[in-house]
Amino acid sequence: LGIGDDAAVLDWGRAGDCVVTVDLLTDGVDFELERVDPRRVGRKAIAVNLSDLAAMASQPVAAVVALALPRGCEPGRLPGEATSNSGPGCLPGEARAGSGLQLAEAIYEGMLPVAEEFGFPIAGGDTNTWEGKLVICITAIGRTSRRGPLCRSGARPGMRILVTGQFGGSILGHHFDFQPRVREALLLHERYDVAAAVDVSDGLSADLDKLATESGCGALLDLQRIPIAPAAAELARLRGDGVSPLEHALADGEDFELILAAGPDEASRILADAPLDIPITDIGQFVSEPGIWCYDEGERVAMKPRGFEH
Ligand SMILES: [Mg+2]
Repeated sequence: LGIGDDAAVLDWGRAGDCVVTVDLLTDGVDFELERVDPRRVGRKAIAVNLSDLAAMASQPVAAVVALALPRGCEPGRLPGEATSNSGPGCLPGEARAGSGLQLAEAIYEGMLPVAEEFGFPIAGGDTNTWEGKLVICITAIGRTSRRGPLCRSGARPGMRILVTGQFGGSILGHHFDFQPRVREALLLHERYDVAAAVDVSDGLSADLDKLATESGCGALLDLQRIPIAPAAAELARLRGDGVSPLEHALADGEDFELILAAGPDEASRILADAPLDIPITDIGQFVSEPGIWCYDEGERVAMKPRGFEH
C-alpha cells in the first residue's frame, strides 16, 4: 500500500535483510537553490540514498520523502521565471503557497524518474513550510540479496582496493547528475567474492579511510593509478590555486562511485572480466598498518585522508 493510508505497507517478499538509509540535504550546503533547477536537486536527493543502498549491495524497495519548503516567493521561484515581485513575503498567501507548490512539484519531477528507473515507489512522505531554507530528507529502504549485505568491515590486509568510475571535480556538475551504482554493486556482489564496500560521498581518501578503519586495517594507494575525472583537471585549471587534479580526485567528494575490497585473485578475475559498462580500477592494497599510505619516491609515507567534514 502506498500513499493514501496513515502509513505505507511494503511487500517484503520472502528473503533478504531490510536496509535503511537516510540523507538530509539542505539549501546552502548540498546545493544552492538560487543557482540550480530544483529538478536536479530532487534528483540528487534521491540518488544519494541509492548510492548508500548500492554500497550495501541492496535493491531499493521504497523511499519516503520529507520536505521543508521555504515560505515566501523568492525561494519558490523556479529558475528562468520572471521575478514578478521582490523580496520575501511579497506575495499574498495564495500565490506564496502556489510558488511553494511549484517548487515541491519540480523536486518531485526530478525524483520520480529515478524511482522509476530503479523500480521502486515513493511510498509516502511529509511536506511542510517554514521560515528557513529548503530541506529535503529522504529515507530509502532496500533489500539485500541472499548473499546478505556488503559491509565496510570485510577488508583484510593483502586484499586489493578496487574503484568504479572516476574521481574529482564533482562540484562542476557530476554531484547532480551521477548514476548511483546500484546495478553495478548488485552484479559484483552476486558474481564475485567482494569483501567490503563503501560509496564515495565525502572524498576518495576520506571514505577509503572509513572502510579501512571499520576493517581494522590500513590502505596503501598507488597514486599513479587513481582514475582522475576530466572535471578534476578542469577544476584545477579554473581555480588555478595549485591544487592538482590528483588532489581533487583524492579529496573532492560526491563522486558517488564505489570503493570495493577483494582478494588478489578475485580482483584479477573482476578486472579481466570487466563485467560493468563502466571502468573498474585497482588503486592499491589493504595493509595491516592503520591509516592511508602511498609511495613517494619509493618510500612508503602516511597520507592525511582528506574530504568533506560534516
Ligand atoms: Mg555512504
